[in-house]
Amino acid sequence: MKAFRADLHIHSCLSPCADLDMSPKAIVEKSLEEGLDIVALCDHNSAENVGAAIRVATKRGITVIPGMEINTKEEVHILALFEGEAQALDMQRTVYSHLQGTNRPELFGDQVVANELDEVEGFNDRLLIGATGLTLQEVIGEIHNLGGLCIASHIDRPSYSLLSQLGFVPPDIKLNGVEISRPMQREEIDIGKAFTSFFIEAPNLKELGLALEGKDDRKVLG
Ligand SMILES: [Zn+2]
Ligand SMILES: [Zn+2]
Repeated sequence: MKAFRADLHIHSCLSPCADLDMSPKAIVEKSLEEGLDIVALCDHNSAENVGAAIRVATKRGITVIPGMEINTKEEVHILALFEGEAQALDMQRTVYSHLQGTNRPELFGDQVVANELDEVEGFNDRLLIGATGLTLQEVIGEIHNLGGLCIASHIDRPSYSLLSQLGFVPPDIKLNGVEISRPMQREEIDIGKAFTSFFIEAPNLKELGLALEGKDDRKVLG
């Protein structure tokens, strides 16, 4: 086993808050430059850039974990990490069927779907920044149904976090972890500036799950 450097909370140009130059290809290249071994692509309420990122990553020898940052009905951000693109797209189907509204790019920013060659495939016109109609319990339940891991995003932030919205961590929810963020002005934009080291056997979801539980000698090194 060895230490793998991971950033499990990355947004691409599909997220309204992220820079347009954060294409799936650029994310992989920047992550390599920063010495990361594992990155989870977690766009707001969407996984449409995950496939492109995985295809670039496979060629470049870095692991992209397919994910999403889901905004629950209570406006709590939850990171959902999956084994494969198929599960992430299943989750996306559920999220889309409970997401209302149309994006207003002039207010929230463009939501670009790009392919692995860095070409624009299209613009997502859903209101990805919005809250879904799914409760925290429903989101967490569905992530686990799909075999995914569930991490409460930036719980130390004053907005869109479990603590800011509910004031406490409900004892009956099954989280695999919580994310503590470092102070910053905007939503997570800098790849590799904050990373977590996982002491695991291989860069995959199962190993990350074991490390989060501290099982079989796997651990989160901090
Ligand atoms: Zn967030
Ligand atoms: Zn985020």
